[in-house]
Amino acid sequence: MSKPKVVVLGAGYAGLVATRRLTQKLSADEAEIVLINKHNYHYESTWLHEVAAGTINPNQARFMLTDAVNPKRVRLIYDTVTEVNRDEQRVILDNSEVSYDYLVFALGFVSNTFGIPGMDEHAFAITDIDSSRHIAEHIEYQFAQYSTDENKNDDQLTILVGGGGFTGIEFVGELADKVPELCQKYDIDRSKARIINVEAAPSILPVFDDDLVSYAKKALEDRGVEFRIGAPIKECTEEGFIVGDDKELIKAGTVVWTGGVTGNPVLAKSGYELFKGKVNVGPDLRPEGEENVFIVGDCSWTLDQETGRPYPPTGQLATQEGAQVAENISALIRNQPIQDFVYSNKGTVASLGLSDGIGNVLNGNKLRGKSAAAMKKVVDDRSLFLVGGPKVLLKKGKFRPF
Ligand code: FAD
Ligand code: NAD
Repeated sequence: MSKPKVVVLGAGYAGLVATRRLTQKLSADEAEIVLINKHNYHYESTWLHEVAAGTINPNQARFMLTDAVNPKRVRLIYDTVTEVNRDEQRVILDNSEVSYDYLVFALGFVSNTFGIPGMDEHAFAITDIDSSRHIAEHIEYQFAQYSTDENKNDDQLTILVGGGGFTGIEFVGELADKVPELCQKYDIDRSKARIINVEAAPSILPVFDDDLVSYAKKALEDRGVEFRIGAPIKECTEEGFIVGDDKELIKAGTVVWTGGVTGNPVLAKSGYELFKGKVNVGPDLRPEGEENVFIVGDCSWTLDQETGRPYPPTGQLATQEGAQVAENISALIRNQPIQDFVYSNKGTVASLGLSDGIGNVLNGNKLRGKSAAAMKKVVDDRSLFLVGGPKVLLKKGKFRPF
């Protein structure tokens, strides 16, 4: 009898952890494992705001898949998934097709612009290594060009960031570190370069208590970040954002949208019923009616049984779901019962640049300042270890002082 084939789509947090755990749980005689990913590397999505600001090298935020999985045990396919034919149990790729007995759908997130006119066309988004590196290069180009321009337009030095959630705030925190460096490099007066964060809601980072939010806002303002809070972005043009009912135009040389994310569009192409861009899965992480498919990470909504609301899409959640899926697929292959997913919240930390941050950690303890920044680096290194293993941690870990 032929071995069952487990196909994992996406080598992000959920997919790579699932793959690594599957190789630990199942012998080569028990199952064939296939990992399909667009690139031959994994990137830490949770570090992309640093790549986008240019405060870390893009190569620090990624590592080769062959550093984390044994290519003799896992068949690695570097290609783009376009669709899953669920009736025939086949994955359609740009260049080939792959059949499966068990499928892990872990293709992650894409930017969600909610249909705001002009946003897709005129704003950058922080979604992967290439898009993030592009932002950093664009920002530096604005400063370089300004320095040699005879008819200087100061708007060219403004960086507009739409959305004051985690991504937007962590990004402006990095920019507050980077912009003085760029001003020095290109002999530009620091007061001419602006970093503006625009948030529709009455507060930035609503997940945190008011005292931590006030700390973060003041700390960033002290480092030159301007906030426009309670200011919904209505449109994005070549020149910048159009904000609020009075349609004020805020001009900028760099415009970045960090106002939301949603599930991978391959879900829709594969015929899934979507709720806000993602698939609802049961407590065992399978969509209704499919025994051999698991949808995890930013592609699914998993319900918190206590609150009755879905867990927010995070790397922390995706990593834990990836591990659970490996357990469940191994159990199915061995005709054993599968387990429901139980989320273990390890806390939340937001960086505000290299040496500042805020956080809620275990037992309700709050962190701010350097202790939060240090904790964030511990979290980042732990993630690298879980996803890539000790070799990757030693190569790419954030052991730098600040
Ligand atoms: P992803 O990490 O997005 O991985 C998906 C993988 O699939 C990628 O390798 C991608 O290349 C690949 N892929 C996509 N489409 C295709 C295709 N069609 N074919 C083949 N391969 C494809 N969460 C936290 O918990 N803590 C944080 O500090 C944190 N910081 C963040 C900072 C930023 C800037 C951002 C944007 C997000 C942050 N998040 C954080 C959220 C976290 O990054 C996501 O929740 C997490 O990445 C989701 O993991 P995933 O495995 O579902 O998908
Ligand atoms: P988000 O949805 O959490 O935040 C988007 C923000 O944009 C919101 O505050 C929203 O009010 C604002 N917004 C939306 N439309 C707007 C408009 N028209 N005008 C102005 N503002 C608008 O998105 P995110 O920050 O990208 O985070 C996505 C997920 O990733 C979340 O689950 C988050 O928890 C996670 N994440 C976690 C961390 C961390 O733990 N440190 C860091 C980054 C992201």
